[in-house]
Amino acid sequence: MLHIGCHLSTSLGFAHMGEDALSINADTFAFFTRNPRGGRSKDPDPHDVAALLSLLQEHHFVQLVAHAPYTMNLCSNKPDTREFARESFAKDIAAMELLPGNYLNFHPGCHMNQGVDAGIAMIAEALDNLLFEGMTTTVLLETMAGKGTEVGKTFEELAAIRSHIRPELQPHLGVCLDTCHVFDGGYDIVNKLDEVLQEFDRVIGLEHLYAIHINDSKNPLGSHKDRHETIGNGFIGLEALSRVVTHPALCGLPFILETPQDKLPGWGKEIELLSRLADNGDSSCCR
Ligand code: FE
Ligand code: FE
Ligand code: ZN
Repeated sequence: MLHIGCHLSTSLGFAHMGEDALSINADTFAFFTRNPRGGRSKDPDPHDVAALLSLLQEHHFVQLVAHAPYTMNLCSNKPDTREFARESFAKDIAAMELLPGNYLNFHPGCHMNQGVDAGIAMIAEALDNLLFEGMTTTVLLETMAGKGTEVGKTFEELAAIRSHIRPELQPHLGVCLDTCHVFDGGYDIVNKLDEVLQEFDRVIGLEHLYAIHINDSKNPLGSHKDRHETIGNGFIGLEALSRVVTHPALCGLPFILETPQDKLPGWGKEIELLSRLADNGDSSCCR
């Protein structure tokens, strides 16, 4: 069975997101830990958190994949921006610990012309301070499209970040693969999905892959644009995306739609479509 959901709004609270997810047959979902453009977050209401936790358990949800704001840049060239990123990330991790055992995904950052190696070093140094032994949240580095000075456009860059943090913290840091981003980054998941996943395994290790962002792309392979398209209507296409959702190496992971739908029923249709394709696939689950 495919584990799939979409991005949901936190505006009506945590438990409400669970209800929204159930209404479209999702068994996971994503949400922004605070406004996607940054800014303040309100402290979660413990009753609301408890209500969501019991809903997740009752309906057998798999891990949620929360998303840190896009503006959070741990490798900015401005010390204030780096400091703000660290503070908000620490708070977001603390808030995620109220929902034990879930995932917190983030964009590694933009090095702002300081060079990719300097960016990797700053991100790793920050994570070394933010992660802690005994945490139940797994923090995920997202594979990026390589727009501007984004760090994380190659598997090697993500592997370098992981390898620069203390070994005892490495189990708390995984990767989330975004199909639109890797395709934009030049990985041909349309014609060479097996090879791309083998490369991921060689460079990072598939055991460190925790979640998939399942999106089509408005742009062709290697365009470094990062513009998501609805499922089946972009350059990746339905056939290739159906191979992703049925690939034995990815089976069992939470799949999150970040497609440009504007209302819940739109994602509901995409969930129905991909779930049907996954059921028809002959994948033998390895997880
Ligand atoms: Fe993202
Ligand atoms: Fe994404
Ligand atoms: Zn994106």
